[in-house]
Amino acid sequence: PHVARLIAAGEVVSRPLDVVRELVENALDAGATRVEVEVEGGGLLLVRVRDNGAGIPAEAVSLAPVRHATSKLEPEVGAVERVTTLGFRGEALWAAAQAGDLHLVTRPAAQVGAAEVFASGESVTVRRTSAPAGTTVTVRDLFARLPARLRTQAPAAVEAREITALVGRYVLHHPGLHWRLTVDGEPRLTHAPADHRGAVASVYGPLSANRVLRVDAGGVCGVVSRPELTRARRDRMHFSVNGRPVVAPPELERAVIEGFAELIPSGVAPLCVLDLRIAPEDHNPNVHPAKQVVALADLPGVATRVREAVTAALAAHPL
Ligand code: ADP
Ligand code: MG
Repeated sequence: PHVARLIAAGEVVSRPLDVVRELVENALDAGATRVEVEVEGGGLLLVRVRDNGAGIPAEAVSLAPVRHATSKLEPEVGAVERVTTLGFRGEALWAAAQAGDLHLVTRPAAQVGAAEVFASGESVTVRRTSAPAGTTVTVRDLFARLPARLRTQAPAAVEAREITALVGRYVLHHPGLHWRLTVDGEPRLTHAPADHRGAVASVYGPLSANRVLRVDAGGVCGVVSRPELTRARRDRMHFSVNGRPVVAPPELERAVIEGFAELIPSGVAPLCVLDLRIAPEDHNPNVHPAKQVVALADLPGVATRVREAVTAALAAHPL
């Protein structure tokens, strides 16, 4: 019943960072070329994501916050193994509306008027309105109805820092879009369409960007830092699988370091941003609710691809 539903929602969305990730992934799934993120109070007071993507047709809007209602799965057996969108469970907007107050305004470019939804706990209200093409989703007062969840939240400054790092990872892996992150009214991160090097400049600054080499071989695309200036921090190793930033298995981090092996002392971790293309049937994004952990059918093979791509990049740009 009521409490069980709240608890289930609190598992899909356990902290403001989860809301940011889900809303950003919805914007990417909608084909947006511009994504703007705002957070206040570490995201507990407000998370807002505005995009210029496909929007939701007026007749479908009332379903958006309904549990398991998704426009992204073909209703055939095995479809979940072959998803190419980032979302597919139809739980994120539902959970956000259970855990907080959801407001969504949306308009497909070809539709004349926009629709607006307020969803909060059991109540869902839909109205017509006017709005630019795209979708803006605002979640306020997250966990106001879940005091136990609220008590275990990190301090706002800590959550804001992690949200900044998360949005940075999306910028690194989707550098061809306009991005903006605002924290408590202050701009934290802005990025105009560029390549991976430009994204490194936006996230880590121009000095870091000047040190990267292009990697593009065997379905592994991105940048690695030049070995002579690498630094020993693994928190700058970024991987995505088919567009979703993932927590990399240690084997992949090791593969990058091995790609450098001849050139740098062991144990030094370079900065890298590597997008891996994996056939949808060869990975299962479904192993973890947040979908950040991927199960790769052939991890050793993927690790080899990564090592060879890094080695090839270094060979093409000798010191
Ligand atoms: P999922 O992404 O798993 O399908 P969500 O709860 O995140 O589930 O979203 C529910 C549905 O609402 C999506 O399937 C999609 O049709 C629609 N939707 C949500 N956000 C957006 C957006 N930013 N732009 C367009 N459609 C959206
Ligand atoms: Mg989604």
